[in-house]
Amino acid sequence: MATAQESPEYDAIVIGGGPAGSATALGLARAGKKVVVFERRTFPRFHIGESMLPYTAGILDQLGLLELFGPDDYPTKWGAEFCSAEGMFRRVDFTAQGGGRREAAFQCERALFDEVLLREPARPARDRRGRRVLGVIIENDRTVGVEVRLGEETKQVRARFVMDASGRAGIISNQTFKQREPNTRLQLVAYFKHYTDVDEANNPGVEGDIQVGNHPDGWLWAIPIHKGVLSVGAVTPAANLRGRNPEDVYEEHVSRVGRINQRLAGASATAGVRGESDYCYYTNTVVGNGWFLVGDSGCFIDPVFSAGVYLGVVSGTKAAEAVVQILDGADETATAQQYENFYKTGYDCYTRLIYAFYESNFNFMAYVRSLGQQAVNIEGRWISRLLSGDFWSELNPVGAHLRAERRYDTFAPFPFVYGCPVYPEQDAREKQEMLANA
Ligand SMILES: Cc1cc2nc3c(=O)[nH]c(=O)nc-3n(C[C@H](O)[C@H](O)[C@H](O)COP(=O)(O)OP(=O)(O)OC[C@H]3O[C@@H](n4cnc5c(N)ncnc54)[C@H](O)[C@@H]3O)c2cc1C
Repeated sequence: MATAQESPEYDAIVIGGGPAGSATALGLARAGKKVVVFERRTFPRFHIGESMLPYTAGILDQLGLLELFGPDDYPTKWGAEFCSAEGMFRRVDFTAQGGGRREAAFQCERALFDEVLLREPARPARDRRGRRVLGVIIENDRTVGVEVRLGEETKQVRARFVMDASGRAGIISNQTFKQREPNTRLQLVAYFKHYTDVDEANNPGVEGDIQVGNHPDGWLWAIPIHKGVLSVGAVTPAANLRGRNPEDVYEEHVSRVGRINQRLAGASATAGVRGESDYCYYTNTVVGNGWFLVGDSGCFIDPVFSAGVYLGVVSGTKAAEAVVQILDGADETATAQQYENFYKTGYDCYTRLIYAFYESNFNFMAYVRSLGQQAVNIEGRWISRLLSGDFWSELNPVGAHLRAERRYDTFAPFPFVYGCPVYPEQDAREKQEMLANA
């Protein structure tokens, strides 16, 4: 039963307590704003997305949170191995980034990571878990709050802004305004399991690295989420699965890439196969009257380069900054628009990277070589940096080439907002140096 309408209680309501929602709540709470998080699940809860980027570690460090994710519970990740069914492999080394960037990332069990991220920083915000948002309240074309399910009761809660961090559910973009577009280039499904009793002696690569293994019908990931525990996933076009048993397809695909499969000798799966589908989508409209989208609620493209949590935390942090500015008197339309263009600049760069990877048959270096003479001066550090999360820098020549590829355009044209959110000073200094040497 709906209760009587209430007057605005909050500066902002955050829908969803994943990484994007936690970062949003943190930014608002630290600025002294009154914020509440509504999360439908009781944490800790399973979530896929277990490999972090060096720039994810960088943004967590900037937020003063990195020490929560120490190596005892979160294996250190120094690089990424790209291997194939034919036994070939190549490693991207994050220590090659240069320029004072953080050289390592970490792997995580998301149930643990998300719980810590929500619990620690959002403590000053009022964090109410186990509360499902049913929809938003719109009055005079403005979003003024949400309807939330509290046990048997439905209650209206009002705020100046509603921050949608509901991930794939997409309360505002997907369910309310139907603005979400499927990414028709990537219609993929992912199946995965966790394995225990994994013997590191069977790892042919570098301890802690993610492995990405390709084969003719898709690719696999292998991510060590704890000592002796490996997450192994299989990604394949949805069309490959029609009429087939997912467990059989998963097992057969995992058996194809020897460098990953050999790690499972003597290991046991903790449960049957789990799956995710329909996760490749985007939207051109990231802000509206009284609302902002952060993280996956707006876009998600593909997990192959492990950027989802990074994009969620960065966009949550920036959206919180924008709302704080507006609440403190900045022009709402201009500030929100700037955020939208910032959001799309990062997701656009990541999308292009993914397209180049798939188009060059899982060999990103083949894409770089396809640039011919233009690629001659591209140093390895730019590739390492891009794969580490360097999505907002104007300087990165690989990013610049990707942005020039008209066939990779996804969003409707928009003005890019450059400037690395993680290393703004290094980015600005390098720009000065490049201009001085030009
Ligand atoms: C197969 C696969 C593999 C991936 N691998 C990686 C990886 O290795 N590394 C990486 O960084 N990313 C990876 N990702 C992406 C990553 O998981 C997401 O990008 C990331 O979780 C986004 O964070 P978020 O906070 O936006 O959304 P989520 O983490 O999904 O959080 C959204 C939250 O909103 C809550 N919610 C939803 N609806 C409601 C409602 N009505 N009311 C209240 N709460 C609600 C949900 O319960 C959830 O807790 C992967 C994704 C897929 C599909």
